[in-house]
Amino acid sequence: MSNPRTVRAARGLTLSAKGWQQEAALRMFHNNLDPEVAEHPEDLVVYGGTGRAARDWRSFDRITASLRDLEGDETLLVQSGRPVGIMRTHEWAPRVLLANSNLVGDWANWPEFRRLEAEGLTMYGQMTAGSWIYIGTQGILQGTYETFAAVAAKKFGGTLAGTITLTAGLGGMGGAQPLAVTMNDGVAIVVECDGSRIDRRIEHRYLDVRADSLDEALDLAVRARDERRPLSIGVLGNAAEVFPELLSRGAPIDVVTDQTSAHDPLAYLPVGVFFEDWKALAAAKPEEFTVRARESMAAHVEAMVGFLDAGAEVFDYGNSIRDEAREGGFTRAFDFPGFVPAYIRPLFCEGKGPFRWAALSGDPADIARTDDAILDLFPDNEHLARWIRMARERVAFQGLPARICWLGQGERAAAGQRFNELVASGEITAPLAIGRDHLDTGSVASPYRETEGMKDGSDAIADWPLLNALVNTSSGASWVSIHHGGGVGMGRSIHAGQVSVADGTELAAAKLQRVLTNDPAMGVIRHVDAGYEEAERVADAHGIRVPMKEG
Ligand code: NAD
Repeated sequence: MSNPRTVRAARGLTLSAKGWQQEAALRMFHNNLDPEVAEHPEDLVVYGGTGRAARDWRSFDRITASLRDLEGDETLLVQSGRPVGIMRTHEWAPRVLLANSNLVGDWANWPEFRRLEAEGLTMYGQMTAGSWIYIGTQGILQGTYETFAAVAAKKFGGTLAGTITLTAGLGGMGGAQPLAVTMNDGVAIVVECDGSRIDRRIEHRYLDVRADSLDEALDLAVRARDERRPLSIGVLGNAAEVFPELLSRGAPIDVVTDQTSAHDPLAYLPVGVFFEDWKALAAAKPEEFTVRARESMAAHVEAMVGFLDAGAEVFDYGNSIRDEAREGGFTRAFDFPGFVPAYIRPLFCEGKGPFRWAALSGDPADIARTDDAILDLFPDNEHLARWIRMARERVAFQGLPARICWLGQGERAAAGQRFNELVASGEITAPLAIGRDHLDTGSVASPYRETEGMKDGSDAIADWPLLNALVNTSSGASWVSIHHGGGVGMGRSIHAGQVSVADGTELAAAKLQRVLTNDPAMGVIRHVDAGYEEAERVADAHGIRVPMKEG
């Protein structure tokens, strides 16, 4: 399937589709595969190991042609990256509906998924890969910045200055870690087994330096820590060897996490396998490879628990490494928590989550205007203002210029209205695509991540993301998706996404008001239902109706 052709979203005001809603889907689909954005565009892989934007190149071509041909009252149906139908609907309906990687419960495991994938019947959609709203590493940067800020608040008096964080993985998502740590004034050592990933993060200014050895990495880290100077250091190696080595040396590590692609054992390099042999071996002997990867993850997580025992702040960063390590025979894998229950759930109770938008013009000045609009809309939110200022200064755009910030109930609708007005007035030169990650307040069931440790034990209830997709479809979103697997792997999550286009029309204003109110409200009601009092307060404050609390 590998094909070296270069895909890049169109820029400017000339449409190749029949309206901006369709054009937006087309540009965001292509943007996902821009070499600046995607990790392996030649294989249609956007991020997260194998997360694809389309099933194969023929599907890519047919999706492109279908979006160009699609009328404003038609809906394109995409089944795991392949366009399977075009139906007459109506102008309030989404222009695209996508379902990716979904399998019936008992069949929802990696061997069955891979069998079907090999037959050409499905593809892995990750979260924003198959739903066409990935915006490069910035997408995860703010969430990672928020998480490390929460670590700093919980344990280090509000700053990571004078601390060393150890983590691994510099891929599409993991690449945000070093910059998120330095934005919180800390020092990061990041272990990565693929040298090209280290170079890419340095090129994109997410990582400061590359150390040639572990000794050099430690030396640089300790010096920067002592001077309370932020610094991020990439070091080439296998985390399953480097973490235990650092532990046995008694390295002074304060925070430990990991973002290798552990959710998919074939995307995790086991100890003893050469980097160059990885893909061929994983393809030739997937079962044997899985066993070896899990054994290595067991060693990796055992070292993380060792750091926990030594007093470090340790958390799972949403890649299922604890469960894989447990499968690999390490019984204490769940001794440390996932990052959502540890730091993020209070934000979810307020309907807060990773809101994002992209400028379809391709003009960075349009994003600068949206940045100003956000600063103007929320003048009292210093945390948000700090993020926007730092992002402006330090984030290099990948593909279409885009911005992310976590906004909650009421805030998202206000931002959507303001953005649509700016498009209508011409201050922003072309429409904006406004979406979010599937990792959001009310759009995901994922017992090892977003819904780990829910107050009422409802972690695995997956009705919520399905209702979320249905409510966004009913509210006027431009494209809506339902995926299985995502960041934590087959059998472990079901989640939904939406993207809505601000094209400056009154119709878009009406749709945006509903979608950007109802979408985060799903998170508020989900947490009210689970018994979170904070969510009840938010529901009351925003007039969100919850029948079981009425009468
Ligand atoms: P990716 O595949 O782009 O990158 C993973 C990186 O890990 C690769 O560069 C790979 O070379 C490296 N790696 C693999 N095995 C290694 C080993 N043994 N030692 C050192 N490095 C190793 O994936 P990504 O998009 O960066 O995502 C990373 C993980 O985070 C995935 O499991 C993903 O599902 C998960 N994820 C988490 C969140 C979150 O919010 N926390 C969000 C999205 C994805």
